[in-house]
Amino acid sequence: MTGGRFDPGGVRGHNDGMSPPPLTVFYSPAYAVEGKIETVTKSKLIAGMIEAGKAGEVWLEAPKFATRKELELIHSPEHVRSTFEDKHGFLEVGAWSQPLLDSILASTGGMRDAVKEALKNGRSGSLSSGLHHARRDAGNGFCQFNGLALAALEALKNVKTVGILDLDAHAGGGTFDILGDHPQVHLADVTVNSFDSWEPTDPQRHFYVEVDHPKGYLGHVEDALHSLERVDFLIYNAGMDTYEKAGGMKGITKDMIRKREKLVVHWAKARKIPHIFALAGGYKWGGLTLEEIAELHLETVKAFAA
Ligand SMILES: [Zn+2]
Repeated sequence: MTGGRFDPGGVRGHNDGMSPPPLTVFYSPAYAVEGKIETVTKSKLIAGMIEAGKAGEVWLEAPKFATRKELELIHSPEHVRSTFEDKHGFLEVGAWSQPLLDSILASTGGMRDAVKEALKNGRSGSLSSGLHHARRDAGNGFCQFNGLALAALEALKNVKTVGILDLDAHAGGGTFDILGDHPQVHLADVTVNSFDSWEPTDPQRHFYVEVDHPKGYLGHVEDALHSLERVDFLIYNAGMDTYEKAGGMKGITKDMIRKREKLVVHWAKARKIPHIFALAGGYKWGGLTLEEIAELHLETVKAFAA
């Protein structure tokens, strides 16, 4: 069968129960905001490629927006309020325009809905990006709310332990700020850049490495997966900014990125644990076009759909 399709009503297609159901990926047009940074423009292109069947049989489904109540599970009420209101309690019009707010709420909700879908059907993902730098009290590095953290808490309603594998070029200091002390959350972070780095405080639950040579990259990814051996659910922050031409490390090729995506999916499948992805960094800094960046992210979708 070919082709994905956008299914705003959330009605899933026929499944005969014999084969695993097709991959459902969360996306709605609200995710994309024209004229802004790649984190909020690229999802539309990726969705278009999925609809054209380029990732195999994949369903696109619109998530429910995250609520302020949900955001307050992972962020301080002050941080949440300051995003929506000015100091007089009025909705602010300015830096956070309504389309940008909608984008953040839709894509954060996509992380929650991806967890629910993976608990039912084994795997899912969301075309959400801009997540892991957001800390409890503040946004940071293009990330306002930490959808990875929200996804982890959602999964913990049903499983005992959750692993967050962060393979963005930069470190997930925001995720560590919110969940570093949580006894049921394991963090594994392989970086090629020290931005937003963090220091493990619990060797049982924390894995952190900054790669110093491209030849060692995939080995470090395997070590990171090994550190998550005991988790019941995997949240994968699939960053493309590690790729040498997307602002990453010289010597990390597209072939290595493809292998990396397969490695992560095979690992989760072999352990029969539900797994979801989010799209992390992938920028035009290295000279790529937005289409080329979208094609890179499609590698993650393809690996999950296979
Ligand atoms: Zn990054």
